[in-house]
Amino acid sequence: MKKIQMVDLKGQYEKIKNTVTNSIEEVLESSAFINGPYVKEFQADLEEYLDVKHVIPCANGTDALQIAMMGLGLEQGDEVITADFTFAATVEVIALLKLTPVLVDVEADTFNIDIEALKKAITPKTKAIVPVHLFGQCANMDAVMQVAKEHNLYVIEDTAQAIGADYTFLDGSKKKAGTIGHVGTTSFFPSKNLGCYGDGGAIFTNDDDLAHIIRGMVNHGMYKRYYHDVIGVNSRLDSIQAAVLKAKLPYLDAYCDARREAAAYYTNAFSSNSNIVTPAVSEFSTHVFHQYTIQITNGKRDTLHKHLLDNGIPNAIYYPVQLHKQKAYQDERYNEEDFTITNQLVETVISLPMHTELSKEQLEFITKTVLDFVG
Ligand SMILES: *Cc1c(COP(=O)(O)O)cnc(C)c1O
Repeated sequence: MKKIQMVDLKGQYEKIKNTVTNSIEEVLESSAFINGPYVKEFQADLEEYLDVKHVIPCANGTDALQIAMMGLGLEQGDEVITADFTFAATVEVIALLKLTPVLVDVEADTFNIDIEALKKAITPKTKAIVPVHLFGQCANMDAVMQVAKEHNLYVIEDTAQAIGADYTFLDGSKKKAGTIGHVGTTSFFPSKNLGCYGDGGAIFTNDDDLAHIIRGMVNHGMYKRYYHDVIGVNSRLDSIQAAVLKAKLPYLDAYCDARREAAAYYTNAFSSNSNIVTPAVSEFSTHVFHQYTIQITNGKRDTLHKHLLDNGIPNAIYYPVQLHKQKAYQDERYNEEDFTITNQLVETVISLPMHTELSKEQLEFITKTVLDFVG
């Protein structure tokens, strides 16, 4: 059996090697390393795929979040609500911009922002909500958009883990993750579902004025060369990464299918075990399984983590610490009783190998090893 990887980037690369290396070579030959034709082409391809008016490429998913917040004109002291259970980038940029992060609990089954907790956290200072579509499925966007509308708030979707997911609204209409709120952001970090071979990110919006503001902001606040109208940043997707992404985008749906297939295998194997909670798939969003995350409810999570590593099965705890308990983000405003779910999840979650190249043989070995140990 081939060695099991948490994410098998090499195996995926082998299958698209010719296309990708040809594209990269073209960039090398043209020497248009910054703002070359591939950047515009990938942008247009992604706009079409997502069915969104504007994609603004940038340097990474963290920048994308920061620039989205700058573009919306959020100011010092504005409160921005996001989930307590996620990667730190989301709260990091809020804090970095001197906005006030307000962390709220998540749902036990989907790991996404809890709507009641969100409503409870709104104050007159609240300006924006950042739902994170964690592990590959959308937060409850009907409810998030409704709350935002009632309180006149911006919605910034952090789509770093859910690019390609489809959201179905209560009225039956559909949109791609990241194109529902006022602005969406994503990351093309190599291990994401659409990953490049370095760093990359993008911002999405259907708002022409906001797109214009953001296009200048990613480029030093310039709308005309060497005239700086606003404070911006330097955040670009380089041409080599754009070439890789243009080559990989046509495979994104197939990649998501491959992940779903692996997830279905896992869930089928684990579903009858009462000590394992398999990931819930909500009725309103497809799941693109950036991670396959189970909960171990008999207290054996930490020993399972070690047992799997000892048996050559990589695995990870996403996430081991609640954001409200991280040194950088703890705050006396928070009450522990408001975080019962996140407090429980950090003790029970474990993510298993998830990528596009998992074989039946590997899945069989992983599930058997987990089941034999968990009991
Ligand atoms: C990966 C990730 C980011 C940050 O993306 P980078 O490209 O690494 O900066 C932000 N939010 C979430 C939820 C992520 O998973």
